[in-house]
Amino acid sequence: MSGRRALVWFRSDLRVRDNRALWEACASAGGRSGAGVVALFVISPGEWRAHDVAPVRIELILRSLRVLRKDLAKLNIPLLIAHRAKPEDVPGVVIDLATEHRCEAVHFNKEYEVNEQRRDAATISRGRERGMRVTGHTDQTCIEPGELRTGEGRFFTVYTPFKKAFYKRWESVGGIAPLGTPAAQAETGVKASDVPETIPGFVSKVDPALWPGGEDEALARLQKFAARSILPYKERRDFPGDPGTSRLSPYLAAGSLSHRQCIAAAIEANLAANPKLRGNPIEAGSEGPVCWMSEVLWREFYVHVMAGFPRVCMNRAFQTKTERIVWDESPERLAAWKAGRTGVPIVDAGMRQLLREGWMHNRVRMITAMYFTKDYFLDWRLGEKWFMQNLVDGFLASNNGGWQWSASTGTDAAPYFRIFNTYSQSEKFDAAGDYIREYVPELRDVEGPAIHDPSQLPGLLRSRLDYPEPLVDRVKARTRAIEAFKGL
Ligand SMILES: Cc1cc2nc3c(=O)[nH]c(=O)nc-3n(C[C@H](O)[C@H](O)[C@H](O)COP(=O)(O)OP(=O)(O)OC[C@H]3O[C@@H](n4cnc5c(N)ncnc54)[C@H](O)[C@@H]3O)c2cc1C
Repeated sequence: MSGRRALVWFRSDLRVRDNRALWEACASAGGRSGAGVVALFVISPGEWRAHDVAPVRIELILRSLRVLRKDLAKLNIPLLIAHRAKPEDVPGVVIDLATEHRCEAVHFNKEYEVNEQRRDAATISRGRERGMRVTGHTDQTCIEPGELRTGEGRFFTVYTPFKKAFYKRWESVGGIAPLGTPAAQAETGVKASDVPETIPGFVSKVDPALWPGGEDEALARLQKFAARSILPYKERRDFPGDPGTSRLSPYLAAGSLSHRQCIAAAIEANLAANPKLRGNPIEAGSEGPVCWMSEVLWREFYVHVMAGFPRVCMNRAFQTKTERIVWDESPERLAAWKAGRTGVPIVDAGMRQLLREGWMHNRVRMITAMYFTKDYFLDWRLGEKWFMQNLVDGFLASNNGGWQWSASTGTDAAPYFRIFNTYSQSEKFDAAGDYIREYVPELRDVEGPAIHDPSQLPGLLRSRLDYPEPLVDRVKARTRAIEAFKGL
C-alpha cells in the first residue's frame, strides 16, 4: 500500500468533477492500490440558522448529497454525514472523524465568509495538534482572492478593472481548465451514511421538481443553456418573462458546478460560433457567451471583495460613510414587500416569484431591492436577510453585493441619484405584462399599460381588484432618498 489516507470535507462544493480538494486527496491517497479516501459532510442546523440559509436551499443540498453519495461510491469513497447542532463543534467533529478513520490528511475547498474562515482556521489548528495535515484549496473561484490586485497592491473595488486583470491572468496562464473526475480509490471498508430526507426547521413549500439535485443535472442544464440560449443571452437576459438566463445559480451555490466548468462551456460555445476566433476566447467573439462569462465573473468578483473587505460579512456597509444614514422603520412596508403586496405590480411579481420558486430573475432582484431601499427607505440589511432566508441560490458574497449595489452603499454601486423608476422598468422589461400576470393572479385580466400601474384604472374597475394601493408616493420618496445621501 502506498499513499496517505485522506478525508475530504465537502461543504459548498458538492461534486466529484473539477473539485480541487477531492482531486488532491485522491492524488495523495494513491489510487486503487493506495490508502483510500473518506468523504464527510457536516449537517449543522445551528450554522445554517445563524446564516439565514433558506429551507429551499437545504432541501437542494440534501438532494445533491444523495447524488454525491452515489457518485463517490463509484470511486470507492464512502460519504459520512455527521450531525452537529452547534457551529463551534464542527472543527472537533471533522478532526475526530479523520482520526477515527485513520486519515493522515484532511482536504477542503476554501470558503471566504468570516465565520467560515474562523471555523477552518480552528480545524487546521486542531488537526495540527494531532499531527494531521489539514489543507484548504482554491476552488470556489478560478483565482485565489487576493492574487489579483490594483497597481497600488489593493483588492479591486470596481468590477471593470477587476475583469480586465482577470482576463490578463487568464490569457497569461493559457486558461484554467476544469479538472476531471479523479480515479477510483482503494476500498476503505468504511460504511457510507444515509442522507436524511429532511432536516427539522428546514422544510420548504417550493416544488422540489423545480430544482433537482446533483452535478449531472447541473451539467445537463449548463450544456442545454450553452447549446440553445447562450448566443442570444445578451439580448434576452433582462426580460424576466423570457427564460433567457441559465438559472444555474442554485447549482453554483450548492457547488454542483464550478466557475471553471461554466467558463469552459461558454468558451466552447464561443469557439463553435467563431471557429477562426483570434484573441482570448473569454473576452472576444460572440457577444452572448462573452457577456455570460462576464456575469459569472461578477460572482468571482464579489467573492474577492468579501475576502478583501470582511466587514461586508458583518452587517457593515462597504462605503462606511453610508452607515450614517438613518433608515426608516416601518413594519407595515416591510410586511407588504415580503408578501408581494406593495401595490406595485413588478415588485409584487418578483417577491411572489421568490416565495413560489425560491428564485428571482436578476432584473427583478435589482428592481425589488431598489424599491426597498430607495422608495421604502428601509435598511438594506433587512432585505438582504429576507432574500437569504428564501433564495435557493442564497450566496452571501453575491447577495450582499447585489443589495449594497442597490442601496448605493457598496462597491461599484448604483449612484445614489440614479434611482430606478419602477414603473418605467416594468414597461421596459415586461412590456406586455406577462411576467406580472404569471405571479400576480389578481391582475391577470388587467389589459394595456395599467398592468404596470393599476392606479390608472377607473375607480370602479380598480375597486373590483383585490389589489392594494401603493404605500408611498414615488416622487416624494425619490427626493427624500436623494437628500439623505446628498448630506453624507
Ligand atoms: C439584490 C440582489 C441579490 C442577489 N442575490 C444573489 C444570491 O444570493 N445568489 C446569487 O447567486 N446571485 C445573487 N444575485 C445575482 C443574480 O441576480 C443571480 O446570480 C442571477 O439572477 C442568477 O440567475 P441565473 O443563474 O439565471 O443567471 P445568469 O444570467 O445565467 O448568469 C450566470 C451566473 O452568473 C452569476 N451572476 C449573474 N449575475 C450576477 C450578479 N449580478 N452578481 C453576482 N453573480 C452573478 C450567477 O452565478 C449566475 O448563475 C443577486 C442580485 C441582486 C441584485
